[in-house]
Amino acid sequence: MADVKIEDNPKILSGPVLTNSPNAVLSKTLLSRYNDLPLPADKIIATYIWIDGTGEHLRCKDRTLSFIPKVPKELPIWNFDGSSTGQAEGHNSDTFLIPRAIYKDPFRRGNHILVMCDTYKYNMEPTDSNNRVKCQDSYDRCKDEEPWFGIEQEYILLDSDLRPFGWPPGGFPPPQGPYYCGVGANKVFARDLVEAHYRCCLFAGVPISGTNAEVMPSQWEFQVGPSVGVTAADDLWMARYILHRLAEEYGVIVSFDPKPVQDWNGSGAHTNFSTKKMREDNGIIEIEKAIDKLSKVHMKHIKVYDPRGGKDNERRLTGLHETASINDFSAGVANRASSIRIPRNVAEDKKGYLEDRRPASNCDPYAVVDALMRTCILNE
Ligand code: ADP
Ligand code: MN
Ligand code: MN
Ligand code: MN
Ligand code: MN
Repeated sequence: MADVKIEDNPKILSGPVLTNSPNAVLSKTLLSRYNDLPLPADKIIATYIWIDGTGEHLRCKDRTLSFIPKVPKELPIWNFDGSSTGQAEGHNSDTFLIPRAIYKDPFRRGNHILVMCDTYKYNMEPTDSNNRVKCQDSYDRCKDEEPWFGIEQEYILLDSDLRPFGWPPGGFPPPQGPYYCGVGANKVFARDLVEAHYRCCLFAGVPISGTNAEVMPSQWEFQVGPSVGVTAADDLWMARYILHRLAEEYGVIVSFDPKPVQDWNGSGAHTNFSTKKMREDNGIIEIEKAIDKLSKVHMKHIKVYDPRGGKDNERRLTGLHETASINDFSAGVANRASSIRIPRNVAEDKKGYLEDRRPASNCDPYAVVDALMRTCILNE
């Protein structure tokens, strides 16, 4: 194990990046002198947030509005330079942002808002990384089944040297075991960032249902939902935005890479899924039907469960470290080494939900939610 160098893992941040963040040394109190400056009474600030051309990373920009919008439709369509985000050519670069979901802004507070948008080319066709359009379409066609999704987002915090935050310089912490749901200064790192994130999400209107420390030191998880249909994916992207934005202040980096360190547990985005029928008495029959359908299209799902068509999950779904092999489909009660797990209490109650353990931590939840609705409800 000691011969595995974290520095040699080229995927940890998906490409060359600046490693030295000056944010940690900036004063954290100076801004408070300006935060309470009274702004013009009729003005609010809206942060428009979108997924860039990687399908994995977020971008944002701010604008002033002279009204308080109640629904996304009231917000203006906006644009940005798509040639700077991998979403357009330089000679025809205007790319459009359509507001889709509004959240309260936990950073500015007051009436200020965060706006989750999706992206469109110059001709109003969805950009290549816009999986939201398909997801909305599937949801519209199966609304009556009331599909719910609860997503467990795992991630790791990195120091500015791109090694896991708080790990000994040049070496590894003692083996995994004491860190999962750990308590104590030598077991969990940066709990205050995690706590701030939990509170900011609840304030914003993202339905976080829980959080826990994970198997690697500086690896954490939060759960979003259950949320209905496409909203589950809006909620998860907004939770990711809030986490990145908070981590800026702490000068640490959030990595959603699914296998940051070899020989240690990777990061997933287990997706818990149910329909109205599954939640009713004897819903276990519906759950088993869904699992049967999923078993027939395993590779089709693997292809959309990470942003590289399954390549990222190849590093994670090895059959070790609480995963099933990427090549085989399996399902089982309380089995964390299977593709699909039926939680013990669901098997006992004979109703509830299933857990798809395959999606990678850096998946696009619009694509995952879309695939589950298509396979299990729409029979596509
Ligand atoms: P695990 O035991 O796999 O770590 P967690 O407690 O972390 O499970 O996450 C369980 C997730 O399941 C939560 O996100 C929760 O919102 C979600 N969930 C609970 N009930 C349902 C349901 N009926 N349909 C879909 N998701 C659900
Ligand atoms: Mn400009
Ligand atoms: Mn969990
Ligand atoms: Mn977990
Ligand atoms: Mn899980």
